[in-house]
Amino acid sequence: MLAGAMTAMSFMSAGAAQAQGELVMYCAVQEEWCRAMTTAFERETGIKVSMTRKSSGEIYAQVKAESQNPRADIWWGGTGDPHMQAAEEGLTEAYKSPKMSELQDWAVRQWEQSKERTVGIYSGALGFGYNTELAKSNNIGELKCWADLLKPELKDEVQVADPNSSGTAYTLLATIVQIMGEEKGFEYLKALHKNVNQYTKSGAAPAKATALGETTAGITFLHDMVTMVVDKAPVKVVAPCEGTGYEIGSMSIIKGAKNMDNAKKFYDWALTADAQKLGAEAKSYQVPSNKNTPVPPQAPKLSDIKLINFDFAKYGSSAERKRLLSKWDNEVKNLP
Ligand code: PLP
Repeated sequence: MLAGAMTAMSFMSAGAAQAQGELVMYCAVQEEWCRAMTTAFERETGIKVSMTRKSSGEIYAQVKAESQNPRADIWWGGTGDPHMQAAEEGLTEAYKSPKMSELQDWAVRQWEQSKERTVGIYSGALGFGYNTELAKSNNIGELKCWADLLKPELKDEVQVADPNSSGTAYTLLATIVQIMGEEKGFEYLKALHKNVNQYTKSGAAPAKATALGETTAGITFLHDMVTMVVDKAPVKVVAPCEGTGYEIGSMSIIKGAKNMDNAKKFYDWALTADAQKLGAEAKSYQVPSNKNTPVPPQAPKLSDIKLINFDFAKYGSSAERKRLLSKWDNEVKNLP
């Protein structure tokens, strides 16, 4: 009995010692950037990172499902809305990093609005891109506005993600509702549905499909399309003429994290200019939240884009996000 208890204790303390050197991270940006962050943090601290890449809405669902026995310590990246929803639902931990004074106002506002439970790490505007070769060969003409994506010539030629899994696509849903009003906005999304060939799981997938000529147009964050242009794909990046929404990519610490100290270490490090530089190196061209991180020259200039006054508190609230997603499922996704 005693021997059994001793064995259990020594097993537990070995486990605890090992746990000090680990960090479990859920990552919602592009795989390349997730991997670059993992490697750099491991090199800097010796802490072993176990990283899983999923889309924003999928991570939220997983964090919620695991809330009684959290597996992850840190949720890094992806659009702010599910981070805000998780904050409201008490799934994430309040934390004030010593790095807060180095951040842009929009990043700090996100942290204040979430009662210190999530912080802005980058920003980027929504829009679309189209394959100029396909547009030319199919006589589609220039595409400049959200309204242009309803052209009958684009039947089955527009790709976008599913807003349940993808933060990019939820940003589209919230953007259209804010620009057009809810009734007209849903009319627009239903009309768009006629041209959609596929609702993908991940928000950036339509950028790759546009570059490869698998679809004429793809709705994504502009920086995801810029990555394709940098890789020399025949893609034109469009900031829609009616105006557009934007994201505040965010980071949260999971409530009850087993490696809480390491989660805080990662959080502080991820807000530094040096860590944020890794984005552009991995060909992710968002606007970083640390004022000292150089803005990549390829990043779409937010000041040149007609940005709406996006209501992050409203569209990140649990009730509104649930309501809009279920309305989209009922009224748009299941249309023939
Ligand atoms: N990749 C990039 C480059 C992003 O900016 C974002 C949004 O934060 C995402 C991925 C999120 O992807 P998803 O729409 O699949 O949730």
